[in-house]
Amino acid sequence: MAISRRGFLKGVAGGGGLLLVSGIPLADARMSTQLPPHAVGILYDATLCIGCKSCMVNCKEQNSVPGGALYKKGMTAPPYENGGVPGNNGIWDAPQELSGKTLNIVKVYKNGTAEKKDTAVNGYSYFKQQCLHCVSPACVSVCPAGAFRKDPENGSVYYLAERCIGCRYCQLACPFGVPRYEWDSAWPEVRKCQLCRHRYAEGKYAACAEFCPTGATIFGKVVDLRNEARYRLSLKPGTEYDFPIQTVDSTEKSRRPVARYADGVYGLTEAGGTQNIMLSGVSFELLGFRKNIPHFDLPSLTWAYVRKVLWVFAGVFTGGTAIYTFTHRKDKEESHD
Ligand code: SF4
Ligand code: SF4
Ligand code: SF4
Repeated sequence: MAISRRGFLKGVAGGGGLLLVSGIPLADARMSTQLPPHAVGILYDATLCIGCKSCMVNCKEQNSVPGGALYKKGMTAPPYENGGVPGNNGIWDAPQELSGKTLNIVKVYKNGTAEKKDTAVNGYSYFKQQCLHCVSPACVSVCPAGAFRKDPENGSVYYLAERCIGCRYCQLACPFGVPRYEWDSAWPEVRKCQLCRHRYAEGKYAACAEFCPTGATIFGKVVDLRNEARYRLSLKPGTEYDFPIQTVDSTEKSRRPVARYADGVYGLTEAGGTQNIMLSGVSFELLGFRKNIPHFDLPSLTWAYVRKVLWVFAGVFTGGTAIYTFTHRKDKEESHD
């Protein structure tokens, strides 16, 4: 039987906060470190991105998260004409950060004269931020209400709003700073990319990949995406290559020279591995992605605490704090250098 969010919170309060005795599934602190059997994800290749933000617009449309300006409340059509908002004469603010209304965002890195694409010095690069769908997600491991889940088949990390108690431990634990809280809502939810899992039943996939015109964002099985990323890295820069569009196994291709990639594949080992992975011509560190995070599954930290305490809230809080402290320790050390 479905449980309403209000009812769930009442149950929690009535039980003195002890979810353990309420019979409601709790934080899944001990999680698999292996890819689920049908794991799907996204490969974002910054060297193919043209910064058009089609992925952002269509993410909003397909996930019913209007606002954040690319798409404004009251709009009835995509925001391609007249600025998208009646009467605004083509002027609107593009979202600057991930938020409760913006589940993925394309930003730009610039240096010096910013002349050359995918170049660190006197160059520029686009980059895309969203949930990376960790193989072993810290957000799921610390959620005391079982609101964050990982699909055991396809591995997408999703959120059950009716279970959320608003503790926001997920925000504390995520090493990539992804989950956002709807501060401007009377009944706020945590929001993040859920890999468009609601579209799979219709044979559709991630909207950001479907509407990306260049193949910078492609969807597919994680094993295929990893192989594709490794293959691109193995090619000599300048080699002509047929990059697939929309999905990794697509027959539609875009032929262009392979760029010079700066690093390896981001997401192969970070935080124990992620289902969304990235390639870039500028180092991920310069793009603002943390390289100094642990390269093992973070929930193992949570589990070390949770298994020892009966009071699960205390265990989850301690575990979440342990993850936060561990993952941010190196930042502090570096800032003191
Ligand atoms: S990136 Fe953050 S929010 Fe996304 S699955 Fe990993 S821990 Fe959870
Ligand atoms: S997978 Fe779906 S929800 Fe996630 S960023 Fe892409 S369009 Fe948005
Ligand atoms: S990822 Fe694709 S849709 Fe998004 S900004 Fe880049 S080129 Fe455009």
